[in-house]
Amino acid sequence: MPEIMTSTNPALAFAGMFQDPTNRWFALYVAVSLAIGCIVFAFEARQDPRLEQEGLLRYLFPKEIYTHRSALADYRFFLVNKLLFAVAFGALVAVSSSSVEVVSFALRALGPSPELPVPRAVAIFVTTILWALAMDFGLWFAHWLLHKVPILWEFHKVHHSAEVLTPLTAGRVHPLDDALNIVCSAICGGVVLAFCRFFFGPHAQIFGVLQLNILVAIFYLFGFHLRHSHIWLPYKGIWGKLFVSPAHHQLHHSVAERHWDKNLGFVFAIWDCLFGTLYAVDRRETIQVGMNGTEEAEYHSVRAMYLLPFVKAWRRAKVHWNSLAGSAIVHPPPAE
Ligand SMILES: [Zn+2]
Ligand SMILES: [Zn+2]
Repeated sequence: MPEIMTSTNPALAFAGMFQDPTNRWFALYVAVSLAIGCIVFAFEARQDPRLEQEGLLRYLFPKEIYTHRSALADYRFFLVNKLLFAVAFGALVAVSSSSVEVVSFALRALGPSPELPVPRAVAIFVTTILWALAMDFGLWFAHWLLHKVPILWEFHKVHHSAEVLTPLTAGRVHPLDDALNIVCSAICGGVVLAFCRFFFGPHAQIFGVLQLNILVAIFYLFGFHLRHSHIWLPYKGIWGKLFVSPAHHQLHHSVAERHWDKNLGFVFAIWDCLFGTLYAVDRRETIQVGMNGTEEAEYHSVRAMYLLPFVKAWRRAKVHWNSLAGSAIVHPPPAE
């Protein structure tokens, strides 16, 4: 789910991310991902004695990945981006959340709330699941738009220009890309929450642990930070059709054409199943991370990551307008 930062001081908001359970950078989520990485190492080292010889640290933090120029760019961008936009995103979430109020107002205008006579536990259970599904659908839809709309793809390229995956690649996201994700998920979640409140009344509450919807908290706890890493952790069979595993997302970053525009989901893989964008991870695949092998190098500076998408989007828009203007010209009939 999109990150929400509450402090108005950028430095405090940055530091607070690691202590805030509602933020994906909460220290516990990072630590559990690290622990799961250790377990994966134990399994893989049993089958590959070479791994055992190299040791756990080398397995978890390979030098060629963590000192790659793409990873170094991730670190710089993460720091600058979080400091610059922490406060702005908090405001954006507040604006988007008003969708609950708008839809609630519209529903009340249609008639009185039926306040269905269901037990409180059922109302909370249904609200918790529907809200998580709605927020997640909003993220899937935003991601789909970012891949399918050429101008938006220019902004999403910042994320896909990573040539290696480290947990900080999750923060290698252009602010407009982040904003679209926040708005889409907040609107979808807001609409569903308004409907739940209308039908269940005050019992329409979200069951949370760590101040977070329980489903999202579990998702963050089960190796969220491995999705941007070299550690292969797939969910197979039915689990891989329900949830997006770290391996699903690693394939999403692959340069291979068969993986393009696949596995767009965030928490649930059901949207990818429903809309034909799922690429199952039933067997291990070796992937090269990036886009086309040439464009990635353009995005290794923080300035390029912020500004290049605007330049490229403008160029695309100009080509599009020129082609529209060209097709609108009425050509004179050929001379006889
Ligand atoms: Zn993508
Ligand atoms: Zn990614």
